[in-house]
Amino acid sequence: MPWKGEKDPYKIWLSETILQQTRVEQGMKYYENFIRAFPNVHTLAKAPAERIFKHWEGLGYYSRCRNLIETGRYISNDLKGNFPCDYDSILQLKGIGTYTAAAISSFAFNLPYAVLDGNVFRVLSRILDIETPIDSTEGRREFSELAQSILPLSKAGEYNQAIMDFGAVVCKPVPECSICFFQKNCKAFLQGKQQLLPVKEKKIKIRQRWLNYVVIKYRNEVAIHQRTVKDIWKQLFEFVLIETARPSTLKQVLKQFEKQYGISSYKHVKSFTETTQKLSHQSLSFTFTMLELNKKDKIENCFWTPLSGIEHFAFPRTIKRFITENLG
Ligand code: SF4
Repeated sequence: MPWKGEKDPYKIWLSETILQQTRVEQGMKYYENFIRAFPNVHTLAKAPAERIFKHWEGLGYYSRCRNLIETGRYISNDLKGNFPCDYDSILQLKGIGTYTAAAISSFAFNLPYAVLDGNVFRVLSRILDIETPIDSTEGRREFSELAQSILPLSKAGEYNQAIMDFGAVVCKPVPECSICFFQKNCKAFLQGKQQLLPVKEKKIKIRQRWLNYVVIKYRNEVAIHQRTVKDIWKQLFEFVLIETARPSTLKQVLKQFEKQYGISSYKHVKSFTETTQKLSHQSLSFTFTMLELNKKDKIENCFWTPLSGIEHFAFPRTIKRFITENLG
């Protein structure tokens, strides 16, 4: 992994931000592209937000990208590029929680702060057979105190890296117990209950959404707009969206589109097979309908862009895939 043994707090911050909610294999490519495009905090701070979002495109959880931009500019402009070097100041930075603050403090400055991420929860709960739910206040406190109490103070960075790697490579959600050197001491393994740990008490409530995209073309141009509301994908681009409370027929979508945008003169070119995407708390169902206008109407909140230049804008993953497969 390219960030292994890294001491530069900027690069550690970047890798940890990317790896929150993202698998290592997927995050690696993004990390390398980011470091190539923005090798230090000043280059990141000077870059236009659109360019940074374009590098983040497809990674999801876009609030991470917004925080990255804001914090990068703060460090570059207000702190003259000097990354804070104590835990409390690092924790003050926007988008940095206790986990990332501990990771930066220990990896870059070898400060004695134990990291507590999904990997560490898993490893500790299994080896020590702890059934306290990790998503409860009590669980967070118990695990946090435990992690801190077993941290070797003079080797905090090395230890944190090791336990996280162990959780990522050996004690995975489906653990590799047959190759694990903890077998003889792991309480969960000895009782055959490793798959039951860690315990979570809350069930995630999934919200179902139906996103009907109307891809409006006029000759070689297409209408898009930037999402600005406080919702998923804020600041990314999309086509005209008709969101409905339940699955809709083509007729219903077009009726709603005509009513909302005051456009009724068009040719229906094609409707595409429905696709879905799962987010942590949402299940999304997409339809795409392509229309060709007879004249270049003004479309509320949208602007026209040539299809040849559409790759300059950052889109959510499913829309990006639609563009590559159907408009590329
Ligand atoms: Fe994890 Fe299995 Fe090793 Fe226990 S024996 S620490 S459950 S991989």
